[in-house]
Amino acid sequence: MKVLLLGSGGREHAMAWKLKQSPKLTELIIAPGNAGTAELGTNVDINPNDFEAVKKVALDYQIDMLVVGPEEPLVRGVKDFFLNDPELASIPVIGPGKRGARLEGSKEFAKEFMATYGIPTAKYKTVTPENLEDGLAFLDEMKSPYVLKADGLAAGKGVLIIDDLAQAKAELSTMLDGKFGEASKKVVIEEFLSGIELSVFVLTDGSAYVVFPEAKDYKRIGEGDTGLNTGGMGAVSPVPFADADFMKKVHKRIIFPTVQGLQSEEIPYKGFIFIGLIKVGNDPYVIEYNVRMGDPETEVVMPRIKSDLLELFEATASKTLKQHVIEIEEQAVTTVMMVAGGYPGDYEKGKEMTGFDKVTDGIAFHAGTKLQDGKVVTNGGRVIALSSYGNTFKEALEKSYKNTEVINYEDKYFRKDIGFDL
Ligand code: ATP
Repeated sequence: MKVLLLGSGGREHAMAWKLKQSPKLTELIIAPGNAGTAELGTNVDINPNDFEAVKKVALDYQIDMLVVGPEEPLVRGVKDFFLNDPELASIPVIGPGKRGARLEGSKEFAKEFMATYGIPTAKYKTVTPENLEDGLAFLDEMKSPYVLKADGLAAGKGVLIIDDLAQAKAELSTMLDGKFGEASKKVVIEEFLSGIELSVFVLTDGSAYVVFPEAKDYKRIGEGDTGLNTGGMGAVSPVPFADADFMKKVHKRIIFPTVQGLQSEEIPYKGFIFIGLIKVGNDPYVIEYNVRMGDPETEVVMPRIKSDLLELFEATASKTLKQHVIEIEEQAVTTVMMVAGGYPGDYEKGKEMTGFDKVTDGIAFHAGTKLQDGKVVTNGGRVIALSSYGNTFKEALEKSYKNTEVINYEDKYFRKDIGFDL
């Protein structure tokens, strides 16, 4: 089977690594990929949001399946583009169509969906310039801190959590005035939930589903979860506080009604649902849906899957996932993300990286890297995710941290406290 995988991050390297283990895989094309994926297949340098370019690659390589890593092509409708093109319509796509992708592409849609299907989430109100007064009144009713979310995609920057009421009101107006462009022309105000977060990943064919291992990621740049938000600085799986009792609630109250809800809405959905959860007391609440895997969570989730990922994708495409169970590795897996100095602010690219041959007892998943004149150089803020197995997450982390010592490039940085709160 020839697979085209869209994306260029650590998530895509981890998926490529897992797909490569399938005896069913005959050829892997990654677009655009990175220096890590280049070792597992053929990188093709196109923009995954340029669907005509994706089509050309699909036809040139005569692919049998498209797997979409990031959200943007999904929210823009790559699946619908394939379905509506006679030359591409028969190629299965792992990832939802435009309607399903609204679970991630519109916070308002996601909140309405949860309200309709009784899925636990924070109280909310959607505000547009037309009902600004209602929004301000809703803020008056809420307690500090105030959560303001741009409705649309804002590259992970569209959520503001503000302590001061007057400031929250002012920010609401600024957002509606276009602080995050079109994405914040509508704002969702939410009740603040206090608890500890984790993520759950579901692969569904629209009716049946398998649940992948859960994970916890660390979003802030600084130790102790301080400083600016990043794409993610590390992750751990399994999550110790997600015990059997808690996960049972997640299945019953969240996963099952989510998949049922999609069916009721007649939204065909073949792909991942990433559910961002918060544990409040002993109960799970949904913070957000994403319609793809997370990064760096994928770098701990893929190593814990024993089943053949391509077989699961095939079953998703043919709507036979019901016949499958997913086998999961019992060992813990952790990942530590190494980033460019200065990230998530300004940083430089093109720094030569060394030490890959010295990585032991672990996997170096490439994120923002590329090959240049035969050398691996940095090509983004987050550059390498160092994943390791262990009998406990602490043992796995020790190995991940050992490997941070052997990978070298100018101004390297990573958090030294991944898992600190577990
Ligand atoms: P991501 O980059 O995770 O995709 P996003 O822009 O889609 O982020 P959310 O995940 O909805 O936004 O929110 C970002 C973060 O803000 C959450 O991970 C959580 O820490 C915090 N947050 C969001 N909503 C709430 C809430 N209602 N109560 C408490 N914290 C919240």
